[in-house]
This record gives sequence, structure tokens and C-alpha cells, in this order.
Amino acid sequence: MSATLEATAPAAAQALDFDAIIIGAGMSGLYQLLRLRQLGLRVRVFEAGTGVGGTWYWNRYPGARFDSESYSYGYSFSKELLEEWSWSEHFAPQPETQRYLNFVADKFDLHRDIQFKARVASAHWQGAEGQEQGRHWAVTLEDGSRHTARHLITAIGVLSAPTLPRFEGIDTFQGQSFHTARWPHEPVDFRGKRVAVIGTGATGVQTIQEVAKTAGHLTVFQRTPNWCAPLHNRPITEEEQREIKAGYPEIFRRCQETFSCFMHTPDPRGTFEVSKEEREAFYETLYASPGFGIWVGNFRDMLTDRAANKEISDFVANKIRQRVKDPKVAEMLIPKNHGFGTRRVPLETRYYEVYNQPNVLLVDSKATPIERITPTGIKTSEAEYPFDIIIYATGFDAITGAFDRIDIRGCDGKRLKDRWAHGPETFMGMMVEGFPNMLMLMGPHTALGNIPRSIEYNVDWVTRLLRFMQEKGLTFAEARPEAVQAWTDHVKLVGAGLLSTEVDSWMTGINSNVEGKQTRIIARYSGSAPEYRAWCDAVADKGYPDLVLA
Ligand code: NAP
Repeated sequence: MSATLEATAPAAAQALDFDAIIIGAGMSGLYQLLRLRQLGLRVRVFEAGTGVGGTWYWNRYPGARFDSESYSYGYSFSKELLEEWSWSEHFAPQPETQRYLNFVADKFDLHRDIQFKARVASAHWQGAEGQEQGRHWAVTLEDGSRHTARHLITAIGVLSAPTLPRFEGIDTFQGQSFHTARWPHEPVDFRGKRVAVIGTGATGVQTIQEVAKTAGHLTVFQRTPNWCAPLHNRPITEEEQREIKAGYPEIFRRCQETFSCFMHTPDPRGTFEVSKEEREAFYETLYASPGFGIWVGNFRDMLTDRAANKEISDFVANKIRQRVKDPKVAEMLIPKNHGFGTRRVPLETRYYEVYNQPNVLLVDSKATPIERITPTGIKTSEAEYPFDIIIYATGFDAITGAFDRIDIRGCDGKRLKDRWAHGPETFMGMMVEGFPNMLMLMGPHTALGNIPRSIEYNVDWVTRLLRFMQEKGLTFAEARPEAVQAWTDHVKLVGAGLLSTEVDSWMTGINSNVEGKQTRIIARYSGSAPEYRAWCDAVADKGYPDLVLA
């Protein structure tokens, strides 16, 4: 018989519905479920969607695909899984990733502990002294059902709370309209249709280059251009497949060593330590290479030194000028208010060439803002455009947004949302003082980068903590205030001096469509992943002195 979490308090534990409730069946929720099941815990996953996959379940918009190499993105924990699954392209499209995550869920028999169409409305800590089943979380779903568990694990994603613009008339549009993260399961036919895309982030770019292939006419509403670079995707040959499978240990070892868990890592040289010719040649090589190399494998000072950043920005601006025929359109596509790489770089496939097509129009929606959505289209300060389909690629209330949407209350009954009103405060991105037994996977202040690598690390850390508690018969874990302070200060320190902290983007907590998210915050950890892991490992190795355990 497997042990339960409550080695010393079995009766109280049994009175609870579960040992742990996990919110979300994306990459982190699935892996956490597997690990906790291996500890012998009684676990339930609540998932709002009808299937597994999280990000890859919801973001089924046309053109959605990896920007990380497929083989560096999948789970690394099971040799058998690595052997059995074959990626078809270097950067796999969304349907394949969703198939992969279903394959994982089937292989490890995960579905039986996942409740679908189960959106969590609230999670309230029940810790009153003297309560027979004190020290647990009461979780209420939108359907009103209530469930209790000793531990609450949030696996709700970094970019999972989509946001629509606050345009007047948005509900009056009589054609079809979609947010990219709420794309229908049925195919959408663009042939002969007048299509609008609002937004030119990584999602907008992928959508635009795909929709432009078939739309009758496409109008792109761009408020801020982003610096994009070529993805250079292609199918994986049989020989490459063999090399990839044989090379998995090396691939994952590399991802453990690099700054942000990608296969690419900053070049140790400074931009001006090499000659202009050498620099140009290096940029050319990066621009011609697949994936994020040009962003995260560039000169080490690219994101800290203004002059260095200007060099690469000028290089990419010239590439845009070469690729876009109309010089006026090219200038519209070149960012002027931020340098290359200070926002997330969208990777593209013939994106800039789309604007050479006669059926594509680029509208500057900063110069001529969208005033309202009409029943037949979009009205800007300058003109009215008729559309059959409007696509909102307008992004997410990132990092803290998914937490804000759940009524999470800790020891003093205060909402987490209010607690974080001026920016999150966490312990290693995984715990919050005053919210005992709540563990966050990919919470604010964790290492982002190649996210599945960070997910596996976070899940393993959480699992190790729960195993420790199980072995010692502990039922309570809360981060100490001084530990939270120390981590939060550290996060601010490593973020200081980065050019990206001076720029508005989801990474700095800005969302023009959400009340109260107009002030930049330090929302993510921007030190290196190895440094992050060393900090977290040390906490566990020392027996968790930074936590109150009982
Ligand atoms: P995003 O980067 O936040 O972009 C949202 C876009 O919508 C921006 O261009 C924004 O303009 C525009 N927008 C928002 N509200 C608007 C309004 N009211 N009026 C006009 N324009 C408006 O969101 P995203 O493109 O969905 O990407 C978010 C993140 O998801 C990415 O950075 C990336 O990390 C991840 N992602 C990953 C992949 C991948 O790995 N393959 C693919 C897609 C996305 P402003 O810039 O002016 O605000």
C-alpha cells in the first residue's frame, strides 16, 4: 500500500478530499501529477479546458508553433518517452505538440486524475486553530462544487489569461471574431475573406504569416512593431532523428548549463571586443541560423550596453529594409522605441515578405488609433475598414494575471491579488508568505527561458519538499518573511541594468487592456537558470531553513 502524505495524521488527511489539488493540466500540471502519484499521494487536477495541454491546448491559432527546438522543449524525465516520440520538424507546429501531450498523458495514464471543464473560482486557506481538519485548502469550482486538499499547486501558466482590447462596440461585430488564445476547434476558412489582425507580438506574427497565405485581403493593425528574426524551420530527416535520439543526454545537459535553458547561450565576447567586420559576420551567421541564437546567443553585452544594442538593432533594421519592398512600410515595421531583444523576439517565416503582397495592408494604429469596432468592421481615427473576420492577437495579462483571476486567499483572508497589487513578492517564485502549502509552478519570479526545462526543475523541487514533509509527518509549510524579502530583493537586483526593464511589455507587467497594469514591475527572474537552481537546491539541501514547517 502506498503511503499518504500524512504519516502522523492519517485520520485528518483521509477526511480531506485529496492530498494535493493541482490547478491546470498543461505541461507543469501533467508532470506534477505524475510525480505526486509516485509519492503515493491522492491528487486531483482541475482543468478548465476539455483536454490536456494548457498553452498548447488553448493557443490553436493558425501558424502556432515552437520557437524553441522541438527536442529541447519536450519532457526530459523519461528515456522511454524520448525514445518513443519523434518530432517531425525542428520547430513543431501546435497540433503536433498537443498530440505529444496527449501521448504523454496516455502513456502515464494521467487522464483518470484530471477533471476537465473544471475552472477553479476560488481557493481559500483553512487554517483556523482547533479545526479538526485545519491546515488545508478549500477549492471551489465555477460549478459551485467544493473540494479540500492539504496542498494547493498552481500550474496555471505564465501566459494563460488572454486579454481583449477595451474597444467600444467589440460585441456588436457581426462577422467572426476570435482571440488567438481562444481559437475554435473547428477550422476557420480565410479564402476570399477580408481579415483583420490586431497585434504584432509573437502570436500576431505567426498568425499574420499564415493567414496571409489564403485570405482575400488582410489588414494588420500594428501599434508597436517588434524586432523579428527568421526561424529557419524545416522537417527533421531520418538521419537527424537518429542523431537527436542518440544525443538527448547531451541536448539536456546543454540546456542545464545555458543561461536560460535554451540550446543557445550568450557569446562570452563583448560587441566591441571584435572588429566591425567580425561583428557583421557574426550577426549574419546568427540571422541565417535556426531559432533563438540571434536573441539569446548574441554578444554578452547586447542587452546591457546601449551602444552594443544599437549595433544589432541597426543590423536587423537593415534586414527589414532589404526584405520589404516599399520603404515607407519597411520604416513602419522597424521598432523605434526599443532596441533589439529588449522585448521577446518573435521568430518568423517570411513575415516581412507578407507586406510585399498586394492583398496585405499595414495600418499604424498608434498614429491612427482604433476608435471602435462597428457591426461591419473597424473604425480608426482616419478611416472605416470593413471585415468578415477580426483576429485579436492582443496578448495576455501575463505572469500574475492567471492568479488574479482566481480568488486565492491566505491566512489573513486577504486576496493574493491585493497582496501583489504593487508587484509580486515570492520565495523563489514558488511560495508566498501567508499562503501556506501553496506551491506555484512557473509563478512570478521564477526562471523563464525555455519553459519546460524550468517546469521540470520546479516540479522536482516541489516533489522533493512534499516527500520531505511526508517522511517527517509535516502538514504545514510556509515561506518565512525574511526569505521572501531576500529572494524578492535578489530578483530586483539581477533585473537592474537590463535594457529590457526600461521597456513596456508583458515581461515588465504592462498590459494596456487591464486596469492597474500600466506601471512596470519586476515580474520575472532575469538571472541565469543555473544560478536560480543553485539557490533553490541550497534551500532543500539545508533542510528548508527558510520555511516554517510544522
Ligand atoms: P504580446 O506580445 O503581448 O503582443 C500583443 C500585441 O497586441 C502587441 O502588438 C500589442 O501592441 C497589441 N495590442 C494589445 N492591445 C492592443 C490594443 N488595445 N490596441 C492595439 N494593439 C494592441 O502577446 P502575444 O503576441 O500573444 O505573445 C505573448 C508571449 O507569448 C510572447 O512574447 C511569447 O513569450 C509567447 N508566445 C510564444 C510563442 C512560441 O513560443 N512559439 C508563440 C506565441 C507567443 P503593443 O506592443 O503596443 O502593446
